[in-house]
Amino acid sequence: MRSGDGNPNQGADSAFSAEVEEGRACDSDPWVWLEEDQAQLAASLAAHLRPHGVQVFAGNGPRPALQPPTAVLIDLDKAESRPGILHQASNPTALVLASEDDLQSRLRAVRCGAEGLYVKPVDPSLLADRILRLTHEALLTPYRVLIVEDDEDFAAWAVANLELDGMRVEWVADPKDLLGVLDSFRPEVIVLDVELPTCSGLELARVIRQGDAYLGVPILFLSGSSASNVQHRALRSGADAYLNKSTDLAHLVESVRIRAARGRRVRAAMTRDSLTGLLNHSCTVENLKRESMVAKRNGRPLSFAMLDIDHFKSINDKYGHRTGDQVLRSLARVLIGRLRGADLIGRYGGEEFALILPGASKEDGVGLLEELRVEFNALEHGGPHGSFRATFSAGVAQWDNYDECGQFIEAADQMLYRAKAKGRNRVMG
Ligand code: GH3
Ligand code: MG
Ligand code: MG
Ligand code: MG
Repeated sequence: MRSGDGNPNQGADSAFSAEVEEGRACDSDPWVWLEEDQAQLAASLAAHLRPHGVQVFAGNGPRPALQPPTAVLIDLDKAESRPGILHQASNPTALVLASEDDLQSRLRAVRCGAEGLYVKPVDPSLLADRILRLTHEALLTPYRVLIVEDDEDFAAWAVANLELDGMRVEWVADPKDLLGVLDSFRPEVIVLDVELPTCSGLELARVIRQGDAYLGVPILFLSGSSASNVQHRALRSGADAYLNKSTDLAHLVESVRIRAARGRRVRAAMTRDSLTGLLNHSCTVENLKRESMVAKRNGRPLSFAMLDIDHFKSINDKYGHRTGDQVLRSLARVLIGRLRGADLIGRYGGEEFALILPGASKEDGVGLLEELRVEFNALEHGGPHGSFRATFSAGVAQWDNYDECGQFIEAADQMLYRAKAKGRNRVMG
């Protein structure tokens, strides 16, 4: 369904309320606020997001009071005519809906405080993907922040404030413990006190920047000194920001959050497939290599599954490439919906997907894939030439002390091949 087809407001209020009001059932669910009377868009977005536990509230009706929305969606003209509207609730991501995708519109959006722009008629599945990524980012994987600070009271204060904002925080009081924690915790933002025992925070920043592994991790300095030469030296040592302990502390949480979020977007652009938001091919293989090493070391099971949509070429031929893309995205959403913290999902190639399942035996993997197969098969896909359902075949293999990761992939691929040969729409392991 395209939101811009016809007049979006026309006579659709009741359908829209029915879709959206279900959301009131649970006040603690993540939700988004559509500051728009676009009934079709609201209904379609709600249909995409509801299976993932994300509610849509629209217009001026009641909204959950318990927590701020994950995102606010608003028409660009409206955002401009009501300055401050995007700052009413604390910290939602603002996305604007605009008529044009040109520099002028993008500048206007930026000036309203928006982080994304979608051109009308908005494709609700694209919007839903972005919202799901935001929701998952915030809920499933809190930002990891490392703070190096010798002042115990100050550290306790900073840790408490960052944790209250939903982040995971590790505190290091003595610089000698830094390298060990870096490797075990893999922080996304590092906060360094400038005045430390044994060495300065500036020196520590240079140590961190010596290796490639932490080259891109933002570093924020905290200092009691407002001397400009200290600030300059801090920025030269590879820091991203400098906060004064006596004046800037209210900004600490926000500064950390902004840099963590930006870091994730940059990494996502490099490691994610743009159509589905899943890990891209090379990143999937990298992750499988890493998880294989871990499994080898700790002896815990690890399973790998390859999925391939059945007769996808004929879906494209019959319903069009655009509809084909929507099928790929809907499979991605089904997979994301079942993601446990440690699982990794990749788009391996065209219509092939891969699941890395740490801790799962082959039987666990086959069971999970079977559930996913049923769930995906139940989805109705819409095209201009009618609705249809799609299926996938999958092969599952368990890590078995292979010499190299390629053999592991080959084992899952063999099982996938068998599932295809046996008639498709099935899981083999
Ligand atoms: P099988 O059941 O044996 O897997 O048959 P199939 O038709 O799915 O397999 P085949 O390898 O013959 O065709 C895969 C098709 O996937 C061909 C290609 O055009 C299509 N495809 C690959 N990437 C994309 C994409 O990003 N979007 C769309 N819409 N189609 C894609
Ligand atoms: Mg100090
Ligand atoms: Mg294929
Ligand atoms: Mg296929």
